[in-house]
Amino acid sequence: MNFVVQLSYLLAAVLFILGLKAMSSPRTARKGIMWAGAGMVLATLVTFLHPAVHGLTNYVLIVIAIATAGGLAWWSGRRVGMTEMPQMVALYNGMGGGAAAAIAAVEMLRALRTLPNDLQVRAEALAADADISVQAATAALRAEGAGSVGIAGALGADVAILAILGALIGTVAFSGSLIAWAKLDGRMKRSQLVPGQQIVNIVVFALAVLFGILTFFTDSALVVAVFFALGLLFGVFVAVPIGGADMPVIISLFNALTGLAVGFEGYAIGNPAMIIAGTVVGAAGTLLTQLMAKAMNRPLTNVLFAGWGSSEGASSEGPAGEMKDISAEDAGIMMAYAERVIIVPGYGMAVAQAQHKIWEFVELLQDRGVEVKFAIHPVAGRMPGHMNVLLAEAGVPYDMIFDMEDINEEFAMTDVAVVIGANDVVNPAARDDPSSPIYGMPILNVDEAENVMVIKRGGGAGFSGVENHLFYGENTRMVFGDGQKVAGGMVQAVKGL
Ligand code: NAP
Repeated sequence: MNFVVQLSYLLAAVLFILGLKAMSSPRTARKGIMWAGAGMVLATLVTFLHPAVHGLTNYVLIVIAIATAGGLAWWSGRRVGMTEMPQMVALYNGMGGGAAAAIAAVEMLRALRTLPNDLQVRAEALAADADISVQAATAALRAEGAGSVGIAGALGADVAILAILGALIGTVAFSGSLIAWAKLDGRMKRSQLVPGQQIVNIVVFALAVLFGILTFFTDSALVVAVFFALGLLFGVFVAVPIGGADMPVIISLFNALTGLAVGFEGYAIGNPAMIIAGTVVGAAGTLLTQLMAKAMNRPLTNVLFAGWGSSEGASSEGPAGEMKDISAEDAGIMMAYAERVIIVPGYGMAVAQAQHKIWEFVELLQDRGVEVKFAIHPVAGRMPGHMNVLLAEAGVPYDMIFDMEDINEEFAMTDVAVVIGANDVVNPAARDDPSSPIYGMPILNVDEAENVMVIKRGGGAGFSGVENHLFYGENTRMVFGDGQKVAGGMVQAVKGL
């Protein structure tokens, strides 16, 4: 039976790897999700055959866990809106870290339970051999150091180290991801800095490491509990001050941490599917974190410790000048007579679900001979690849979609740059204003186009809370309204020509 279990884990791991590979392109991503999902179902169901699982209670517990978690995931997955996807991803990611930490907790508590028994057995044997009382034998063994070998003694040093590391990383990913979820879901303020935050973070981290070391040697459940509590606290303290435009970096960092924690705990319980899946997720998450940090032009240490991007530094002074608005119809007609148009989508396009109408509009422009391209900023929207997913859903061909570094120089030669629901990713303050909290973040240079049309409902700031001077530019026209309605108005105007 063990052979079947191990074979299933190997098969599940292969499915995870193939799934991830397929997810690297929007064309094959759907297939990738199905493969990885099938791997997960296999890895979960094979638990019933695991040699360590026996007794009715265990089977009933597994069924309850699968039914509750599967039911909740099915229900929430069906009703989640596209704009709520990022917070859902943060939540699921946190669950992965929490599950890894929970496995570590169970293993450690199991080790603690066997420690006294182990000592008891040895004391009884010594008492019989040396013809002394069991108490005296226990005392003698304790004096020699037995019973104080702690968790490492029961699990073995290598397993104990990985279980402890996995527990620390998993607890941080769990509580940090929950804070990220609360922020993305609007349940918590974007950035909250307490005085001396960095010192507090360093102290809590040092204490967590100290208790991790103590856990290695301990035979006290209290030490283990304090260690877990400190890990959870550190996750909260890392995530709470993150605000502004830094969220994508921290979310992908927690994703990487979850993968690592799962890999470590897989080693601790000898589960190859967890080791491989965890390593793959950890590696992919680390690469994504690097890409995101690069996209924001921010070293990871700055994101974690500098409190940059918090609304604290945001200038409270509004930009000088006035916004000039234009109707959707006039904007549409102007573009119909342009030669080159670049469309920059942002989070507001997802909110408005405007991608289908925008694509209809673009097809009308193309029929009139206008050259149209889409420009995607790496952190546009609320999760990596958010805009690519929306455009793919609307049927926009991939060869019309360009990454920031491939298209940025073309804005200067463009008649109209259309910004739909994007804000931070086109804010010139990031390029021109050293006092701005988002200074240094690469942006799409839409302001270099001959004309800029900004489609949004009002004149307010984006996710980072920083005012956008682009809206007041000489060459900028605001097209106020919901993205879908405005796109519909532009379609009607061009059809009427
Ligand atoms: P943004 O800065 O969040 O701005 C979105 C704009 O959309 C808002 O200014 C809003 O203005 C407008 N909007 C909202 N609903 C709309 C509707 N129905 N119709 C038309 N417009 C609408 O967006 P972004 O430029 O895409 O920048 C992304 C931001 O999110 C960055 O700061 C990034 O760091 C952060 N972030 C990204 C990720 C990621 O992984 N990509 C994850 C977390 C956070 P009105 O209210 O005036 O309409």
